[in-house]
Amino acid sequence: MKKKTVGQPKSGDGDTVHSPLVTYASMISLLTLCPPFVILLWYTMTAADGSVSETWNYLKQNGVQGFLDIWPRPTATAYKIIVVYGLFEAALQLLLPAKTVYGPISPTGHQPVYKANGVAAYLVTLITYMALWWFGIFNPTVVYDHLGEIYSALIFGSFVFCILLYIKGHLAPSSTDSGSSGNIIIDFYWGMELYPRIGKYFDIKVFTNCRFGMMSWAVLALTYCIKQYEENGKVSDSMLVNTALMLIYVTKFFWWEAGYWNTMDIAHDRAGFYICWGCLVWVPSVYTSPGMYLVNHPVNLGIQLAISILLAGILCIFINYDCDRQRQEFRRTNGKSTVWGKAPSKIEASYTTTTGETKRSLLLTSGWWGLSRHFHYVPEILAAFFWTVPALFNHFLPYFYVIFLTILLFDRAKRDDDRCRSKYGKYWKLYCDKVPYRIIPGIY
Ligand code: NDP
Repeated sequence: MKKKTVGQPKSGDGDTVHSPLVTYASMISLLTLCPPFVILLWYTMTAADGSVSETWNYLKQNGVQGFLDIWPRPTATAYKIIVVYGLFEAALQLLLPAKTVYGPISPTGHQPVYKANGVAAYLVTLITYMALWWFGIFNPTVVYDHLGEIYSALIFGSFVFCILLYIKGHLAPSSTDSGSSGNIIIDFYWGMELYPRIGKYFDIKVFTNCRFGMMSWAVLALTYCIKQYEENGKVSDSMLVNTALMLIYVTKFFWWEAGYWNTMDIAHDRAGFYICWGCLVWVPSVYTSPGMYLVNHPVNLGIQLAISILLAGILCIFINYDCDRQRQEFRRTNGKSTVWGKAPSKIEASYTTTTGETKRSLLLTSGWWGLSRHFHYVPEILAAFFWTVPALFNHFLPYFYVIFLTILLFDRAKRDDDRCRSKYGKYWKLYCDKVPYRIIPGIY
């Protein structure tokens, strides 16, 4: 008998992955545990020397009241920083000159149109931030000093934001790619709209995922570096390696931002708590946490080790980029690009949309995509390891992001496989026969 499953509501091309029990349990746990986790992570990194056992002992002694005592209340300063930053990024998204880019055609036949100005927004943001510091107008250490309050304000503010998204999904969806699963928790958690917009041009997911979330990663990486400099009069080589790698990674992201608009986050995952709260709160806190740790732990690696880690990290970021580039060039040229100097090997697949139309698509089966079906996750995880390892091994917590990312990407590979199987049917099976490993060639 076919197991009944629940999960993300259809964006039209396949949906369910886990059993109802697992789905509800994971949704409820993430909704309730992520907010306090963000606060505990910040507290442990900044006030408990990065030591999980120190925080644990504190909580054991002081109980729930102790936890409430360390949870910073959102302050006016925190809200001011968030609102000014958010408005600045929204203005750049709307106003900077941009190339018009078309997203993938959705299962209901809708094709989103974007303004691609990510690199310009990234450069303007970082130059403005550094200039504000350099000319003494705003000191980034203020952000670090109010980090707990900022996370607290983000936690509550983003929750309200997701409620508004839910209401908008019901009352005023922006496109045909919208709908309810019939369950309020699923609708809130997974979202209702695939492409919510304000007006014709302001794309909400581009704002939450790219211009707020990913941009804050770069801004906070610089903030941590500046904080260490202002505290110690110099920046340790471990902090330099960490900041350089995180900035290279985020630069790569904005360089490739229009490509990101073709990925699962944008083209398949709807705008709800999972994606939007994740990008507004989890990215600025958890993704940046190795740098947050290093502020008060200026490890000295020595030039040789520092350069080795830096080069290994850059190589991983490059391979990850090249995997994405290879797939997108292959699709863009309709299978006519060269892959590792040769004509690509491919599967010509077809699938049926929700409106009953038959469409064709190509699956690349050579290059990185011939090693395993999600090989790009291997360099993604390794890159995160390399920007964390400058913290060395005194504490476990700086490695939380690497562990979280590994779990996230292994789950994502399964979700994507399931989705592609239901979309492409026998063609996906052909791909699995030809490329049997899901992530790690020869192992998994
Ligand atoms: P992608 O969306 O880029 O790739 C998966 C999609 O590609 C599939 O859904 C399918 O879509 C298509 N596809 C699958 N196999 C093939 C093939 N052989 N040939 C052509 N197309 C294929 O994946 P992700 O969104 O997961 O990853 C994008 C990037 O983002 C990666 O670099 C990843 O590492 C990174 N990432 C980072 C995360 C983080 O938190 N740091 C989290 C997630 C991703 P279709 O329906 O079009 O066929």
